[in-house]
Amino acid sequence: LRDVVIVGGSLAGLHAAEELRTAGYDGTLTLVSAERRAPYDRPPLSKQILTGEWAPDRSALRGAEELAALRADVLLGVHASGLDVTRRIVTTDEGLQVPYDGLVLATGCTPRALRGEAAREGLHTLRTAEDSLALRRTLLAGGHLVVVGAGFIGLEVAAAARTLGAHVTVVEPAPAPMQAALGQRIGGALADLHRAHGVKFALGRGISRVLGAHRVEGVELDDGTVLDADAVLVGIGAVPATGWLAGSPLDTSNGVVCDAHLAAGPPGIYAAGDLACWHNPLFGARMRVEHWSNAAEQGAAAARNLLAAPAERVPFASVPYFWSNQYDTSIQFAGRPGAQRVPLVEVDGPKPAFLVLTGDGGTLTGVLSVNSPRVFLRIRRLIKARATLADAADAARAFLSR
Ligand code: FAD
Repeated sequence: LRDVVIVGGSLAGLHAAEELRTAGYDGTLTLVSAERRAPYDRPPLSKQILTGEWAPDRSALRGAEELAALRADVLLGVHASGLDVTRRIVTTDEGLQVPYDGLVLATGCTPRALRGEAAREGLHTLRTAEDSLALRRTLLAGGHLVVVGAGFIGLEVAAAARTLGAHVTVVEPAPAPMQAALGQRIGGALADLHRAHGVKFALGRGISRVLGAHRVEGVELDDGTVLDADAVLVGIGAVPATGWLAGSPLDTSNGVVCDAHLAAGPPGIYAAGDLACWHNPLFGARMRVEHWSNAAEQGAAAARNLLAAPAERVPFASVPYFWSNQYDTSIQFAGRPGAQRVPLVEVDGPKPAFLVLTGDGGTLTGVLSVNSPRVFLRIRRLIKARATLADAADAARAFLSR
C-alpha cells in the first residue's frame, strides 16, 4: 500500500492512523475530517465540558506533537462527499480528489433530529464540542430545559443541567429511563436517583411539537400537555453518517455493513467505529455498536487487517463495553443483553447498586453494573471466555461474599 486515506477524524479514525504507523506503514496517510478541531473525545461533552469542570481543550485526544508524529496529511474542515471504488478516489465538497489504495471509513454518527422541527434558538442536539458549548451557554442563562429522550445522553445532560441549576424535565415514551439497556426495574431506580436531584419526568409520553417560532418557548406532549421551556435537548439516538456514500456499491442499510474482518466489500475498504456494522464471531451475530471502546479498538483492528495479507487478517471478535456517569452513579454494561437475567445485587435508594448477568441458552452474554464496578470487572472477562451463566453467577456470588 502507498496511499491510505481515512475518512472521519475522530476516535476510530485516529486509532486507525496510529495503528498503521505502529505497524510500519510508511506510505502517504491522509485523514479527512469534517470538523475543524483536531480529534477530541466525545464522552466529556455531556459530562465535564457541559458542567464546566473541564475547559474544552482538555478533551483533545492527542497533543500537537503526537499528531505530527503520525506524518499524516490532516485535512480539517473537509467533508468527503463521494466514493468512486472503480477509480479508487474519495471526493470532497470542495472538489478535491483524494486517491487511495487503502481506505478506512470512520465517519461515525450524527444525532437524530425531531421530525418536522426547524432549527431555532434553544433547540439543541449533542454530538460535537460546539454543540456542548452552545448547550452550556443556554443552560447558564437559567430557565427550564426539556430533555427529549431518556437515553444515556439525555440523562447525562439532565444531571449536568441540574448541577448548573437549570430546571429539568425529561420526556420519554417508555415507562422508565434507559429501559432498553437497563430494564424497567433498574431504569425506575435511575429515575428515582434523578428525581432526588430535582429532575422531573414525563414518562410514557412523547413530544408532538416544539413551540416558539424563532426561539423555543415550550413543548406540547402527545397527550396535549404543554410544558413551558427555554431550551430543548433532543437525545433520541444517532444515525450513521453514510449520506456521502450514496451511489457507491457499499451496503449502507445499517451504517456500513462489513464482514467479520471489517472489510466493506470493494478491495482495500474497511470500516470502523459507530459507522461499522460487522459480524462479531464471538456472538455469531451482526452488530453496530455506538460505544467509545469499540470505536478505539475497531479503528486499530481495521488498520491491521488493511495491511495484512488476506489469509492473515483477524476477525474482530469483541465484547462491547459501555459506561455512563450520572451524578456520582456509574453505569457499566459489557456484552449483549440475553433472554435470561440473573439479578445478584439490588440496592435502591440514594446510592443505588445493581448487578445483573444476562445469558442465552445457559451461556453468559452480558453483565450490567450500577455502582458495582469491581465485581463487574471480574465478570466482564468471563464473557469472552464463553463461561456458562451458572458459573459466572457462582463467581460473582463468591466475589461479593468476600
Ligand atoms: P465519531 O466520534 O462520530 O466521529 C466521526 C467523525 O467523522 C466526526 O468528526 C465527523 O465530523 C466526521 N465525519 C462525518 N462525516 C464525514 C464526512 N463525510 N467527511 C469527513 N468527515 C466526516 N461512549 C461510551 O462508551 N461511554 C460514554 O460515556 C459516552 N459518552 C458519549 C457522550 C456524547 C455526548 C457522545 C456524542 C457520545 C458518547 N459516547 C460514549 C459514544 C462515543 O463517543 C462514540 O462511540 C465515539 O465517538 C465513536 O467514534 P467514531 O470515530 O466511530 O465516530
